[in-house]
Amino acid sequence: MIDEIVEAIRRAETELSEDTVQALKRAYEKETNEMARTQLKAIIENFTVAKKGSLPMCQDTGLQTFFIDMGYDFPYRAELKNAITEAVRKATKEIPLRPNAVHPFLHKNSGDNTGRFVPYIHWELREGDDAIIHVIPKGGGSENMSGLYMLPPGVGIKGIKKTVIEHIFKSGGKPCPPTIIGVGIGGGADLALTLAKKAAILRPIGSRHEEEFVAQLEDELYEMANKLGIGPMGLGGDTTVLDVHVEYAHRHPATLPLGIVTQCWANRKRKVLIDANGKVEVI
Ligand code: SF4
Repeated sequence: MIDEIVEAIRRAETELSEDTVQALKRAYEKETNEMARTQLKAIIENFTVAKKGSLPMCQDTGLQTFFIDMGYDFPYRAELKNAITEAVRKATKEIPLRPNAVHPFLHKNSGDNTGRFVPYIHWELREGDDAIIHVIPKGGGSENMSGLYMLPPGVGIKGIKKTVIEHIFKSGGKPCPPTIIGVGIGGGADLALTLAKKAAILRPIGSRHEEEFVAQLEDELYEMANKLGIGPMGLGGDTTVLDVHVEYAHRHPATLPLGIVTQCWANRKRKVLIDANGKVEVI
């Protein structure tokens, strides 16, 4: 299991996910701003060279992050946490990855991407006997452009749209656009951000929410964001976001949490599937 997780980290770091590759190529074809086309061309060359040489596509190889979707009857659940931690240590040496786990008070880098509560593992349980490990190394620059807004419920959908667009505007070129924006609405503060992160990274670019109203909101936010003119790497152009994904939860009557998670163009993600017989597959 450890070797397959290492392989998934390697592929996530060195081969850009196919939905992102296609979205960036489409953006390059459509872009009307010359400077933006130059930036998109450089990004496309960058991920092409990275894949060819099996090299990380960015110097920031991210905070090693894993979302686990696991059946109640998955027989290897006790081994998963240690396997992931061991895989992160191995991947750091072998790929190699930049050591990105720093003690927040002592400023000491652990050197192997592990430490207190990291790698970060988010667990979700469901029916079944298999498990899916989503491997999503998350860049620091785009993570810095996350936001939580505890809105007064009275602002409604209009206030949500305004806050999202203002947030993207204020982020400017800092999260390395074109970005994928995840928007989480409702629940509590933590749930809104978790929903936003899942929406930003786990959903394929171009997919739409199953509920028509939310899908329309995604379209509208996507159009509005791309009218801001921020453009690739913040140097102007038509392509500020590759997509906007929205997810929601029911909320407390007195609260309207809005979580926004920004994912950069280096949209690293792979999945490891493990079945009940121990068969492991990286996809
Ligand atoms: S935000 Fe993304 S593309 Fe920019 S430096 Fe960080 S990982 Fe790299």
